[in-house]
Amino acid sequence: MLYSEFVEIYEALSKTTKKLEKASILAVFLKRLKNQPAEFIYLLKGRVFPEYDPREFGISDKLVIKAIAKAGGINESDILKKYRKIGDLGEIADAFIGKRKQSILFHSKLETKKVFTNLKGLVEIEGKGAVEKKLSLISELLNSATGKEAKYLIRTLLSDLRIGVADGIIRDSIAEAFLKEEENAADKIESAYDLSNDYAVVFEAAVKGKKELEKINIIPGKPMKVMLPIKVTDIKEAFRICDKPAAIEHKYDGFRVIINKDDKGNISLFTRRLENVTKQFPDVVKIVKENIKGHSFIIDSEVVGYNPQNKKYLPFEAISQRIKRKYDIEKLIENLPVEINAFDLIYYNEKIIAHIPFKERRELLEKIIKTEKLKIRPSMQLVTDDEDKAMKFYHDALKSGEEGIMMKKLDSPYHPGRRVGYMVKMKPDAQDIDLVIVGAEYGSGKRAGWLTSYVVACRSGDEFLEIGKVSSGLKEKEGEEGTSYDEITKLLKPLITEEKGKEVKVKPKLVVSVIYQNIQKSPSYTSGYAMRFPRIIHYRPDRRPHDIATLKDIESEVKKQKFQPHGIQ
Ligand code: ATP
Repeated sequence: MLYSEFVEIYEALSKTTKKLEKASILAVFLKRLKNQPAEFIYLLKGRVFPEYDPREFGISDKLVIKAIAKAGGINESDILKKYRKIGDLGEIADAFIGKRKQSILFHSKLETKKVFTNLKGLVEIEGKGAVEKKLSLISELLNSATGKEAKYLIRTLLSDLRIGVADGIIRDSIAEAFLKEEENAADKIESAYDLSNDYAVVFEAAVKGKKELEKINIIPGKPMKVMLPIKVTDIKEAFRICDKPAAIEHKYDGFRVIINKDDKGNISLFTRRLENVTKQFPDVVKIVKENIKGHSFIIDSEVVGYNPQNKKYLPFEAISQRIKRKYDIEKLIENLPVEINAFDLIYYNEKIIAHIPFKERRELLEKIIKTEKLKIRPSMQLVTDDEDKAMKFYHDALKSGEEGIMMKKLDSPYHPGRRVGYMVKMKPDAQDIDLVIVGAEYGSGKRAGWLTSYVVACRSGDEFLEIGKVSSGLKEKEGEEGTSYDEITKLLKPLITEEKGKEVKVKPKLVVSVIYQNIQKSPSYTSGYAMRFPRIIHYRPDRRPHDIATLKDIESEVKKQKFQPHGIQ
């Protein structure tokens, strides 16, 4: 298949904002794509790997400018000048390379396979001479690209395709193309995606039909989307959703780890963002090997850090660096050891057990874990129908420094990827939400050189809508507990897409938890709302922009506030 066919679709998709239209355009295209390698579907999201694979092209604006200059036979400074004006290197490539193309009579046509191979190749390049090697792979593509092809190649390289295709649209288009007669087809596609997290797998199965789609299931060793809770504000509501009696557990302030042992005995660990963190946690792997019985399993857990000196549990923030760290791991393990709190079992000894009642899954979980202090334990649990006892458990959890409680429905299945009423969370500060940073401003005086004020946004479908500016909550000095301005500045700088005076715009990648006093309607921000007295409490390297609060969440918070005129304290 020629890459120009993809480009035609990219152009058509970017011309409409209507979701239904986008899905129909894509459905027609998918019927053509079905005879190609299934992984080509990743190109619709500007990728060459499934979403859970964290590998990136690692291409800077500077390198792209070099590549365009080389392919178009122009000066880098001319490109830079234009870039400052229009801010889209894709458009610039279109103009310059398009012009060059007209003067060349014969050129080979760009095949999608070639694009895919070179893009994949970029990810593998590391070490000495990496920049030159990357440049040569990009130039090879640009040399046979038309202007429009160059535009989308560049946008793909910069992870900024701008065609407005979110997961929902891919889901609907697969349903429309291959399961048109089926009832709830989109739902079926979504469930298959929640289990595989891979559109190539779902697409390939859907082409073959419903039966093949139904075969997609949980496999240990592959990342799986976790089940999420609904938020409640009182114990009555919790019992109303979970029925009586229900299981209540401490809500630990760590991070979620899905522990996998596959049928060959390999152990792998995934976060809620589907990132493979096995290498960062050899200590957890060792505990799993020694303390859990079974040839194969998938266990859901919260991994919590503690202070090795006084053995006290630490907040998430303190151990968050362990998720990203790729070196000096042994030393970090000594300074920041962790404990596994296992709370669910989804797969056991070659069998999926997600459909059996939670009560039975939990019984089996308790049987297979050898509890060892500060290493592994089943999460603390109380099964009760008594509201007073439940409230006492809640207060005890808070007293021992936990975030609150989780209540779980005893006869419920495990539903990967869904925020369903099989589990609820209750905690005192109802007003902390996860948001993504979309802009920032350089500080002055003591804070000069750092980005110290951040424009944060919530999500509405594929779009990020601003909801306020936050500048407090971070630390000025390295070494104090918590995230520092310096750290966030270093993370934000490579994400800058536009600079104007002291203000910058950044790619929406960095997720932060923000607390606030209340939310008000406001014309100043694109969401239509603004937070009062916002403060960053955590940087969340374990969350993706997709996981942040949605506009709907914000609207329901505002509604709740109406019943509590002074805001929830
Ligand atoms: P918020 O977004 O309100 O700050 P949160 O960041 O902790 O809450 P939520 O999805 O709202 O995330 O809460 C569910 C999370 O709580 C789970 O993803 C898991 O990491 C954590 N958790 C802690 N203890 C438990 C438990 N016993 N059972 C299930 N999840 C637990």
